[in-house]
Amino acid sequence: MTSSESAPTVPEYDVVIVGGGMAGLTAALVLGRARRRVMVLDAGAPRNSPAGHVHGFPTRDGMPPAELLKLARDEVRGYGVEVTEATVAAVEPNGTVRTGDGREFRGRQLILATGIRDVLPDIEGLRSRWGRDVLQCPYCHGYETADKILAVLGTEETSIQQAQLVRTFSADVVLVLHADISLRDEDAHGLAAMGIRVLAGKVAELSIENDALAGLVLAGGRTVPCEALFLEPAAEMDKGLTEHLEVDDDGCIVTDELGRTSRERIWAVGNATDPSAQVVAVAGDAYRLAVVVNAKLLEEDLGRAVESAGANPLEGMVEAAALREAV
Ligand SMILES: Cc1cc2nc3c(=O)[nH]c(=O)nc-3n(C[C@H](O)[C@H](O)[C@H](O)COP(=O)(O)OP(=O)(O)OC[C@H]3O[C@@H](n4cnc5c(N)ncnc54)[C@H](O)[C@@H]3O)c2cc1C
Repeated sequence: MTSSESAPTVPEYDVVIVGGGMAGLTAALVLGRARRRVMVLDAGAPRNSPAGHVHGFPTRDGMPPAELLKLARDEVRGYGVEVTEATVAAVEPNGTVRTGDGREFRGRQLILATGIRDVLPDIEGLRSRWGRDVLQCPYCHGYETADKILAVLGTEETSIQQAQLVRTFSADVVLVLHADISLRDEDAHGLAAMGIRVLAGKVAELSIENDALAGLVLAGGRTVPCEALFLEPAAEMDKGLTEHLEVDDDGCIVTDELGRTSRERIWAVGNATDPSAQVVAVAGDAYRLAVVVNAKLLEEDLGRAVESAGANPLEGMVEAAALREAV
């Protein structure tokens, strides 16, 4: 008998949360403070861990990502939330989760907040610079690259908009058409008008000097000088997590506006549903989701209370009042 077929038992937790990044921990904080029994299962590899600092999070701007999450973990533990290091390998249709080392967890509700993995272009030397001088989000790290020589890796049509955005940080920007992107006349005109150079050529490797990006080496051998490179990575999620859920073209979990997935009792939030959301945005979404999930629990609690109170719940209260008076 598989776990999904086994007889239903009372779940140990009100809510199991898979993923202890800012989305998962914000949901855990709200639910812990609502006095729910919460288990967070976390593999400990948040998406922004290669970056030295988190930006754009009020009061925490510039803090190392690991430090921010440690603060959040300490806070949720203060409200009785359990945080366990574990990698979930499978999510059953009924919401039971199984870890890679064979443990099973079940909550009355399940929240998936696993984030995504960035799939980087296969360019020699690029991976080791990710989050340092190879960057994805101009809002997160553009300010730190101000007035430097900047490049944008043209991998798809949206790279054109990324180049325009990057241009607000420096007057020296080059868009390198690494993939075959057809520039419309108006795009070419707009880029030229903003002073963004456009160069066609496949990037073969990164040139690194003194532990810093110095240029992009094109397939023909030419080096294009640059001090920071922006690109838009593809997203990837573990199939075991999403096997029984509806996903979009990027493999991210599809939810309604409340965070409900295609399965009863399974919810999703954060980059797992929207890879473009920054830390403060996923925290906001997770807060809202936690309120919705708690409302769902409350609805069930109410149903159970009414059922077990029987036909006339006032009877017991009248008896108790009469007893008090007699005493
Ligand atoms: C290089 C880089 C720099 C960035 N810098 C910034 C910045 O400065 N400011 C900003 O606002 N945003 C920044 N971002 C975006 C930021 O990383 C995301 O907004 C944020 O991480 C999303 O939070 P999340 O909780 O959804 O996912 P994550 O932070 O990725 O957390 C998900 C957690 O779930 C865990 N997990 C995954 N799979 C499993 C599993 N199967 N079982 C158990 N646990 C699992 C992961 O290990 C991780 O701990 C940056 C992104 C990148 C790539």
